[in-house]
Amino acid sequence: MKKSTILKKIGDLTLNLSLLLFPTFTMAQQITLNKLIGQFDEKKDNGFIALDSTILPVNKKGMYLQKEPTEQLIKAYNDFKKIHPDIPFIIVSATRNYTYQNGIWQRKWDALSAKINDPEKIAEEILKFSSMPGTSRHHWGSDIDITSVSSEYFRNDKKGIILYKWLQENLPKYGFCQAFNGGRKGGYQLEEWHWSYKPIASQYIAQYKAILESDPNAIMKTLTFAGHDKIKLESLVKEYVLTVNSDCY
Ligand SMILES: [Zn+2]
Repeated sequence: MKKSTILKKIGDLTLNLSLLLFPTFTMAQQITLNKLIGQFDEKKDNGFIALDSTILPVNKKGMYLQKEPTEQLIKAYNDFKKIHPDIPFIIVSATRNYTYQNGIWQRKWDALSAKINDPEKIAEEILKFSSMPGTSRHHWGSDIDITSVSSEYFRNDKKGIILYKWLQENLPKYGFCQAFNGGRKGGYQLEEWHWSYKPIASQYIAQYKAILESDPNAIMKTLTFAGHDKIKLESLVKEYVLTVNSDCY
């Protein structure tokens, strides 16, 4: 075999190997621990876009989302409005970083501490609907809450019922799954309003799960919110991060 042919074969082999290895390598590198636990500023991250700069209706300024889910959400919104022009479809929450989530947690922890003595019970109460800072899917820039954060609205209000039916039947076509659906054993209660952009969120949860299995302390040591040292932190984190709709994995 000629020397040039051998070199070409080695070259091809290297290329094939790097094609095989590169996708997993880059995927693992893309999501840093800081991004997983929300310790970053979405307003300064150029992968994120301000929702109030798009056509999407929002209930407050300064909410951000990653670009791809935003594009898909705009398509879904436009298609919804063609059929239901009078039904509200409003983004009421998008990316919430660790600092923001910590504010929510601290307020609820302080309020409940005045009434309840057992830290486990306090955490259990907050965790019905709010995440421990560092464990929220809202950290990921892939998840949004739509129109109302009250189950009452989606179960009893005519407009809420129509909206929820449409979301369930149609949002998956745009890449979204309902993370906190009914019938799960553990984790958060049913949230009709919370939707996740699966192509991104499924990578985040896979990475989060891998760390929880291989080196949970890498995450635990970053969680310094009120009461973290008084509760069964690791088992709560595992339950609440991982117990989601199987469609979202
Ligand atoms: Zn939510």
